[in-house]
Amino acid sequence: MIVREIQCKSVLQKTGLPADYVINCYVGCGHACCYCYARYMKRFTGHTEPWGTFVDVRVNAPALLEREVRRKRPGSVMLSSVCDGWQPLEKKHRVSGACLAILVDHGWPVRILTKSTLVQRDLDMLADAEDADIGVTLTAAGEEIRRLIEPDASPTADRIRLLEDAAARGIRVWAFLGPFLPGLTDTPENIDALMGAIADLPLTHLHTDRLNFRSGVAASVRRTVMGGFPGLRKQYARLGADPEADRDYEARLHTLTRELARKHGLLHLL
Ligand code: SF4
Repeated sequence: MIVREIQCKSVLQKTGLPADYVINCYVGCGHACCYCYARYMKRFTGHTEPWGTFVDVRVNAPALLEREVRRKRPGSVMLSSVCDGWQPLEKKHRVSGACLAILVDHGWPVRILTKSTLVQRDLDMLADAEDADIGVTLTAAGEEIRRLIEPDASPTADRIRLLEDAAARGIRVWAFLGPFLPGLTDTPENIDALMGAIADLPLTHLHTDRLNFRSGVAASVRRTVMGGFPGLRKQYARLGADPEADRDYEARLHTLTRELARKHGLLHLL
């Protein structure tokens, strides 16, 4: 992993996401998910290394945020959008955690989405916050596939336990299911297992996602899946290049996720 400590010029970015601002304390992400859409960030940051092999740490983010929360109009803040704020380097650098503490101190609403149980150490802060929620992304019920497609993120079962812990402390919890990969994780068995595992949680909402082929995602997914699952080679050789297959995949996934959400009593959360 190539790690650099860098200085950023601002922290709170206006966003069209379901939040007023977003904070990304890292450029790059050590979770190295093969389907990551954020790899487009390479274009804007001059990185030529493969996605998942470099991370720039915005070490001055907390200091800047202290100033920005006094200057900018208060609003809800998402952590994060083009990195995971609690990726492995957060253990040492703790920049997302420090930014979270500032937002909570100032009473700004916080929305977290992560694939890491490292955020566990910040749950006390979230429990004390006036307005905070935490969501985890879940893609694969089986660890063999999970390790292949998201090698350095936390195991799926640990992410679900994180939601259970958070909910037990009175923090609002939600889940983001997907993206589901064709022929691999878009199966009824996988989606049924994931929905079954979260069905008893007091979720506030649920998102499902299909694989999106933009920004070099198709090539990355193709490399990963064809290497790990030779039986899918034929299907993946045309991934993202066959509009009809793409439409079929999307329609099938839409129907399946709704059927299974209904089965598990989750349909109203979609
Ligand atoms: S955790 Fe999110 S930002 Fe990080 S590599 Fe995976 S998809 Fe990309």
